[in-house]
Amino acid sequence: MRELSAQTVAVHGAPRRNMSDQIRYATAFPPIHQNAAFEHETPESLASVFQGKQPGHIYSRISNPTVAAFESRINDLEGGIGSIAFASGMAALTVTLLSLLDSGDELVSGSSIFGGTAELYEHVLGRYGVTTRFADPTSIEDIRASITDKTKLIFLEAIGNPKLDVPNITETANLANEHEIPLIIDTTLLSPVLVSAKALGASIVVSSCTKYISGSGRALGGIITDTGTFDWKRGRPRAVAEAAATLGAHLGFLSIARKRIAQNVGGCLSPFDAFLHLLGVETLGVRMERHCNNAMSLARRLSADKRVVHVCYPRLESHPQHHIAFRQFTGGCGGLLTIRLGSKDRCYRFLNALTMPKHLANLGDTRTLVIHPASTIYHSLPAERRESAGAHDDLIRISVGIESYEDIEADFDQALEEVEHGAQ
Ligand SMILES: *Cc1c(COP(=O)(O)O)cnc(C)c1O
Repeated sequence: MRELSAQTVAVHGAPRRNMSDQIRYATAFPPIHQNAAFEHETPESLASVFQGKQPGHIYSRISNPTVAAFESRINDLEGGIGSIAFASGMAALTVTLLSLLDSGDELVSGSSIFGGTAELYEHVLGRYGVTTRFADPTSIEDIRASITDKTKLIFLEAIGNPKLDVPNITETANLANEHEIPLIIDTTLLSPVLVSAKALGASIVVSSCTKYISGSGRALGGIITDTGTFDWKRGRPRAVAEAAATLGAHLGFLSIARKRIAQNVGGCLSPFDAFLHLLGVETLGVRMERHCNNAMSLARRLSADKRVVHVCYPRLESHPQHHIAFRQFTGGCGGLLTIRLGSKDRCYRFLNALTMPKHLANLGDTRTLVIHPASTIYHSLPAERRESAGAHDDLIRISVGIESYEDIEADFDQALEEVEHGAQ
């Protein structure tokens, strides 16, 4: 059968046959199972679900049918062997890393990553004896040089935030494979309709659903998917290898992540928020198309504008990794772009002159959002770390929304005019 496109799978999930009517209704339009725990007909049946002899739900921290419907939709999109949803992207990252790292281990991470992830390395993993080695994600030599015999995984963002640098994922996957360690990719800035992390060689995909997947900025969420490409029997820690040995070569990570870590750490997605994410994912395909088109048009327009010092968007030919971005992200590069205006003062004058975009610290919303990262998200970092993260003093991050492009352009144009000629 012809393989369905990601846009179609986002709407329907993967085709399934031979479902009872009851399952069919719940698959097409998943209801909200707003319960903490699940009733069983007999004490024996409750016990047998507890003992893993019979499938079923027990308690919503472990699993919930609405959350499971959302996990299944994302897993279909990623082409994975299983997904686990969380209350936030950070919870998803935390459980992934706690599942794979023991104290004394090291990980290699791209250096230009989301601030929360860098803080997780430093303030949480660091306290438990896990060392992070940062590497330039665009340099395979740098990543290679950072691997030691203690390295247990490589972590990259498919597009770094806010630097918008693009790693060569396939090349890094080959390197990870040589060292028999998994490659974890955070695809938040693209969503699963713009990148097939599995096809590029990722072992685990992590995404914050708070952004594009949900789309309307109403609910937090995170999700991890095992793409099924890594043989966990060769992987460490020992718990994962042991689980893989008993459950099958591929299932080690998912069972440890769900049963040992997620279940005991908490951070589970609420059924209502899973419902909101399911609504979001249905329109993911059309939204991403519009985000990409609007962002590309705005990036081109601002690049040609002398009032703007620099524009960064991975699809622009001026972007240092635009060839890699073009090859890896076939549907486009999402809605995030940055501009430099020459000084912090000009940035603030510009932000104050905009009338439509919202001033808030999120991205991937239907609305166009703008922020000055250096004085907000990165304000507590020392100046040199801010610079290396790409949060320059004269840089504005724009999350281009799905409004009419003409309205976005007109507002940006009048705001730039105001910066040049407005009252001082
Ligand atoms: C937002 C974000 C996260 C964290 O997700 P939350 O849902 O806010 O916890 C992780 N990675 C990237 C790239 C993000 O943009």
